[in-house]
Amino acid sequence: MEKTVLSIEHEVAKPLKLSELKDFEVDLLRRVIEICREAKEAGNFPFGCLLADKEGNILMEQGNCENENNGDCTCHAETKLMSRASQKYSKEEMWELTMYNCGEPCAMCTGAMYWGNLGRMVYIARESELKKYTGDDIRNPTLALPSRAVLACGQKPDVQMLGPVPELEGEFFALHEGFWNPSDQE
Ligand SMILES: [Zn+2]
Repeated sequence: MEKTVLSIEHEVAKPLKLSELKDFEVDLLRRVIEICREAKEAGNFPFGCLLADKEGNILMEQGNCENENNGDCTCHAETKLMSRASQKYSKEEMWELTMYNCGEPCAMCTGAMYWGNLGRMVYIARESELKKYTGDDIRNPTLALPSRAVLACGQKPDVQMLGPVPELEGEFFALHEGFWNPSDQE
């Protein structure tokens, strides 16, 4: 059964249709799926994200890089991207940028987004759907803690979290088919 330790009110995810996104945003989300594929082919986990400006210019790309960093558990794509971006862009600049992401970010990555003052994220996949593939695999024991709940605990109510985009989930999850080894499925 799903349970939550948070009683705080937070925004509920509203699935987006592709037609509700700008054309360049759909292209960026498709590029994110390619970044996931590249991360997987490089021996990492099939996750990735990118940072773009308001015109859709890609400023930075990042795949999961845990395995190439000796199993560094902080090398989730989003946390790594925020680490890199926060050293290059000011807090004011970060507020104007968007991260396009393969899935709803975990609590760690949402925290990195928050501390780095990212203003906006668009993600493809639902955590609950990802869990159907990863289960309790120790390499990726997903957290049932909505990123919006994490953000609701912060002091910045204007952070934008957009997603999921169900029409693109299949392309992303195809990379996860048979990749994980859960001990059982719910
Ligand atoms: Zn994460």
